[in-house]
Amino acid sequence: MGLADITVHVVDLDALAPDSVGTDTYAAASAAASTLDAAERERAGRLRSPVDRRRYIEAHRVLRRLLGDAVGVAPGDVRILRAACLACGGPHGKPQADGVEFSLSRSGAFAAIALGPVPCGVDIEERGAQEPAALAPLRDGVLAPGESGDDLLATWVRKEALLKATGEGLTRPMAEVSVAEAVRAGILRDLDLPVALAGRLVGAVAVTAPASWFTGAPPATGKVRALSSRPEGAS
Ligand SMILES: [Zn+2]
Repeated sequence: MGLADITVHVVDLDALAPDSVGTDTYAAASAAASTLDAAERERAGRLRSPVDRRRYIEAHRVLRRLLGDAVGVAPGDVRILRAACLACGGPHGKPQADGVEFSLSRSGAFAAIALGPVPCGVDIEERGAQEPAALAPLRDGVLAPGESGDDLLATWVRKEALLKATGEGLTRPMAEVSVAEAVRAGILRDLDLPVALAGRLVGAVAVTAPASWFTGAPPATGKVRALSSRPEGAS
């Protein structure tokens, strides 16, 4: 399967394993975690909350299935590597899989996974009762000069997507990033979420190369697709 466009999947992690929601036996169920690699299992093991652990494992199982389909290997055989960190050169930079660029974001019960032929970044955040008051103190750190803070969470998510696409992550201040510039350059768009999720989640996806955004497809039909609350094939 060729990945001409950026594809984004939005997944309800609690819908994938309803029987195990709220139980602590899940992480111990090696069948669930067996397709994860040592680094993923180690990270899952460090999550104290059973709910977090289960959601982490589910997100990475779905990620591996999507990458496996794209690369043509079994989910457990997908090799996920980390590029060198742009700040320190350490092995914790942008993750990459064999020949496929991807980005994963988790918020609450949801995960968003972007796959494509060019480096991409996706970010989702659950809209919470704490917003926007909780975000207000971050305002100056998020907004570039002249930017509106009307929907600070949406701005946050767009910038996070841009910084994840380039691999800059936390190494570059958000206030240096211009959403308007990225939109003009055609490298950023908001996720077109299903109606049922639109009020609960905000999300954006970014790419590093505008020329590749619509590879093989005109703007009207290419771009973000396969948005679903459950991945295909989920039982
Ligand atoms: Zn580093």
